[in-house]
Amino acid sequence: MEENKTEGQKLQEKLAYKAKNVWEKVSDEERKEIFSFCEDYKKFLDVAKTEREFARETERVAVENGFVSLDELINSGKKLIPGTKVYKIIRNKAAILAVIGKQPASCGVNIVGAHIDAPRIDLKQNPVYEDTDLAFAKTHYYGGIKKYQWVTIPLALHGVVIKGNGETVEIKIGEDENDPVFTITDLLPHLAAEQMQKKASEVVTGEGLNVLFGSIPYNDEKVKEKVKLNILNLLYEKYGITEEDFVSAELEIVPALKAKDVGLDRGLVGAYGQDDRVCAYTALRAILDIDTPEKTAVCLLTDKEEVGSMGNTGAQSTMLENFLAFLCSLEGEYSDLLLRKCLSQTRMLSADVNAAVDPNYEGTHDKKNACYAGKGVVLTKYSGVRGKAGGSDANAEFIGELRQMFKNNDIIWQTGELGKVDLGGGGTIALFVANLGAEVVDCGVAVLAMHSPFEITSKADVYMTYRAYKAFYSFIK
Ligand code: MN
Ligand code: MN
Repeated sequence: MEENKTEGQKLQEKLAYKAKNVWEKVSDEERKEIFSFCEDYKKFLDVAKTEREFARETERVAVENGFVSLDELINSGKKLIPGTKVYKIIRNKAAILAVIGKQPASCGVNIVGAHIDAPRIDLKQNPVYEDTDLAFAKTHYYGGIKKYQWVTIPLALHGVVIKGNGETVEIKIGEDENDPVFTITDLLPHLAAEQMQKKASEVVTGEGLNVLFGSIPYNDEKVKEKVKLNILNLLYEKYGITEEDFVSAELEIVPALKAKDVGLDRGLVGAYGQDDRVCAYTALRAILDIDTPEKTAVCLLTDKEEVGSMGNTGAQSTMLENFLAFLCSLEGEYSDLLLRKCLSQTRMLSADVNAAVDPNYEGTHDKKNACYAGKGVVLTKYSGVRGKAGGSDANAEFIGELRQMFKNNDIIWQTGELGKVDLGGGGTIALFVANLGAEVVDCGVAVLAMHSPFEITSKADVYMTYRAYKAFYSFIK
């Protein structure tokens, strides 16, 4: 075939850039690996539907794989040596793992950083009320959602309640086959003439996202709000909680849907929360699978990205700096200067998703610069909104290094940009770590229907991303 090519065809192959479809490039064996990897991924998604559940699962698999808690190491007085595996869970909602490299941490570390929170609907602090013989829960949504997507689907309730006596009660209703589910009702089309004229952002309002909680009245003539009382009583009988306990609770409403294969060929994963658990899971799996690296490998799993990365579990907190400071100190010596040296020589893949081109929605992307489902792990040089504002813009030198690394490891990648210049955009945790002096670039999976209750990814991309992160943990310039 090669000799049949014209001079022009050969020249085009040599000079022009074209992203490849992963499925067309992988061997039969790799195809099998892709599918088996994504079976594990789907299972993980089903047990890690909230940031707390993800953090807990992280601790479980970390311990299973020989990681030791940082606090335990500090207390034991032991020193870190190459190959030591260490983890820290931050306030049950974020996590950092590291495999200590041959070089000291002060020479810089290789971080893959993702977020484990996802858009959802939180219960308010005094949620339960009764209206028209039905009980509901008031909510305040978390992150950027299209509110109309969250009505008339089965919903589950996950979270914790801290009781008056300090005891913690875990709640998870709607995931077991035999569990009841919750839902938010919508108006029937017959009576929706007025509603259908509204803008999509106003069809369902924030205060209108009231979750249906119950319908059977408590059997006592003398009480008012009998349906609400019955619900409170059921909660009391099962969990020992009272209405006041909601004040010190974090209860999250998430879709009561399991991760599924999508399409007759089973090439796609459909699931809630893939932004950004697809990157968090692959980052986690990859650090479990590496040998002692040259530079220390760090997996950073943060909370609160969907609302701006604020707070003591978000990427704007000092959790990463604190963790690295402890690594420096446990390796033998500590000074502020060593930590600064570490940060300035650190490289990070900000592991977050990008928006895949959706042929159902023409005109949202610059197709020459957008990413596609199935074309490999996405490198997003810059984020930000209208003129790159508020985003992170990686240095060309760093991307040059990564291109070589991808090439050397047979990793199929593509470039991406979050939508057309004037349309909108977004940010990730990249800028917060870049602000500390590290080299950072966004690198993750292309997603269809991002931030919806059922997000879609290509299994080929999930696997390529895992391979990219794994190679990066052992990257040395
Ligand atoms: Mn994200
Ligand atoms: Mn997001």
